[in-house]
Amino acid sequence: KAWPQTDGLTYEGLQDILTSTPNATKAREWSKYYTAGPHLAGKNLSQAIWTKEKWQEFGISNSLIVDYDIYVNYPKGHRLALLEKDKKTKREESVDTGSKASWSVQYEAGLEEDVLDEDSSSGLSDRIPTFHGYSASGNVTAPYVFVNYGTYKDYEELLAANVSLAGKIALIKYGGIFRGLKIKRAQELGMVGAVIYSDPGDDGEVTKHNGNSTYPKGPAREPSSVQRGSVEFLSIAPGDPTTPGYPSKPGAPRKPVDTILPKIPSIPISYVDALPLLKALNGHGPKASSFNKYWQGGGLDYKGVDYNIGPSPDNLLLNLVNEQEYVITPMWNVIGIINGSLADEVVVLGNHRDAWIAGGAGDPNSGSAAFNEVIRGFGEALKAGWKPLRTIVLASWDGEEYGLIGSTEWVEEYIPWLSASTVAYLNVDVGTTGPHFRAAAAPLLNKALIETVGLVLSPNQTVTNQTVGDVWDGHISTMGSGSDFTAFQDFAGIPCVDMGFSGGPDTAVYHYHSNYDSFDWMDKYGDPGFHYHATIAQVWGLLAAKLVETPVIQLNATEYAKGLAGYLESVKSKALATPGFMGAEDEDWTKKSLFYGLTKSIDRLHNVSVSFDAKAQALTDEIAKDPIPWWKWWQKVRLYYAVRRVNAKYKFLERQFLYAPGLDGRSWFKHVVFAPGIWTGYAGATFPGLVESIENEDRGNAFRWAGIITGLVEKAASSLED
Ligand code: GLU
Ligand code: CA
Ligand code: ZN
Ligand code: ZN
Repeated sequence: KAWPQTDGLTYEGLQDILTSTPNATKAREWSKYYTAGPHLAGKNLSQAIWTKEKWQEFGISNSLIVDYDIYVNYPKGHRLALLEKDKKTKREESVDTGSKASWSVQYEAGLEEDVLDEDSSSGLSDRIPTFHGYSASGNVTAPYVFVNYGTYKDYEELLAANVSLAGKIALIKYGGIFRGLKIKRAQELGMVGAVIYSDPGDDGEVTKHNGNSTYPKGPAREPSSVQRGSVEFLSIAPGDPTTPGYPSKPGAPRKPVDTILPKIPSIPISYVDALPLLKALNGHGPKASSFNKYWQGGGLDYKGVDYNIGPSPDNLLLNLVNEQEYVITPMWNVIGIINGSLADEVVVLGNHRDAWIAGGAGDPNSGSAAFNEVIRGFGEALKAGWKPLRTIVLASWDGEEYGLIGSTEWVEEYIPWLSASTVAYLNVDVGTTGPHFRAAAAPLLNKALIETVGLVLSPNQTVTNQTVGDVWDGHISTMGSGSDFTAFQDFAGIPCVDMGFSGGPDTAVYHYHSNYDSFDWMDKYGDPGFHYHATIAQVWGLLAAKLVETPVIQLNATEYAKGLAGYLESVKSKALATPGFMGAEDEDWTKKSLFYGLTKSIDRLHNVSVSFDAKAQALTDEIAKDPIPWWKWWQKVRLYYAVRRVNAKYKFLERQFLYAPGLDGRSWFKHVVFAPGIWTGYAGATFPGLVESIENEDRGNAFRWAGIITGLVEKAASSLED
């Protein structure tokens, strides 16, 4: 039995409601609504109002809109053309290249996604042009080079092979890392523009064998599909680039954007538009496959692409035009509050509402539709007399796509209150695009997550009563970035979960940030029947219930200590694998000096955590026994305060790892254990300060970071002791 006693509804009763309420038909209905209206950040007020009113209708009367004034771009125009020198026909273009030669258009890219009869949303009237959020305006004409995925390492390998990059336009494949970082490195190397395309070689089996037809006839990539997306340098700082660290309220002072936004123009294109560009490189420069296996090229060999690097021959130039209008405009979060008995223990749930396209059935509205079902469940429970133990905050974020704007500004505004009160943040962005459960979590939440997925039946069972947990591979990623948990985890030190269902190499291609992320695609390929929508709503609601209702907060300190020990092992291997860092020293020396203190402090945290978790479990067991009779009120008071003391320690544990000056060169990031990788963006880096020092072969800084982290681990251990 839950204690203090849940008024009117038992914990089991609450779990029943949160399991039985989410409904596939309803989720389909919400998906239909969200995917039929205007979505783009700062242009979706009607959906913000609708969301607020729905939540009120569900029984969350305290729902309101919170807005910020955001510096942001909207597309005005673009062009991409392959120009050929001295062509007698079609002399449309004259480019000043210094040589007075005349140039004609060899290929004019369409830069548009096809309108399909079979897909209603791709023909919606408010179709959004293909462009990059926070891209720089510009008009450049230059030779171009194929740079593979445009990772830091890809560019290094090109430079090592003497491929000249300065002054060229980068032709980049999507994949691997966050797109903004592909452009960041290109810019640092003196490249003048970037074109990023979706290579079908990255779409898995459904495309690779070319035996499947393309969407809408089949599961393979629609050839004209384009991935829009933000190119803000998200591993430097997310949020409104003019107000890093503080909220963009009206009249807020604004800072220059030069370290956070690109200066060179970029556009996203389809593989149809990339084909003529790639083919024109055939025979020029080394072959991609001559580098290594990872450079293999892509999936367009069968269309006659040899995947040469270039640069493009002297008689060819690329003209790239990107015109963006920058404005300061409101964006709207919807915030719902369910007051619990405890005001200083809060659980926050969030999903973003904005999308790059009119549809957005997967990103984010599979999450938004599921969210409504979770909230409808909370409403039903309230009607049944539920009074939550902890306070619940619900958030429908705007501006996630441009750079986690709505969530970041909100966290920046409410950080004093969030730091004092928040226990956990549970994020669902893309709720489902396929059948495979995936999750990232702060280690403190591992156990709660694993227990919860064991409570929910899988929509796809090979054995009766198989749960989501049973059919899951069990892998939990570390917290990186790419969605709205970032400000909670990395700026505020609040443990987070980010989860959803995804496709795999064997399922229909998900047209991420494309018009074909549509209701029709979802209905036919992504989640026919919308069962996974209902399932993610069950997981989300039950995880929230566990964190809100269980008397002793369901965080696990031992998992954190174990996590840290694992991260330390990988830092050690990294150090040993970086000869420039190790110098003449041997393995033993490094372990003894650089890692000595940190290893000892993590050991100490582990020991302290094991006994702390045991103490917390003893309290849980004590409460689980028959409720203390009323006349033993003094014992109840003792227990109450014992639980509150343990809970406060759990609540503040993640906060112990914040370091106020922040990481090197990106001071917005305050967490010394988790950050987005500086050159990956999405994938997380653990002990980022230390790892980056090793990568930079900077021993002094590595020792400095080892000292900072050791101090914080010691502080965390002490915080759990009496
Ligand atoms: N989730 C979005 C994306 O991957 C936004 C990430 C960001 O800009 O921070 O494009
Ligand atoms: Ca801000
Ligand atoms: Zn999203
Ligand atoms: Zn997105």
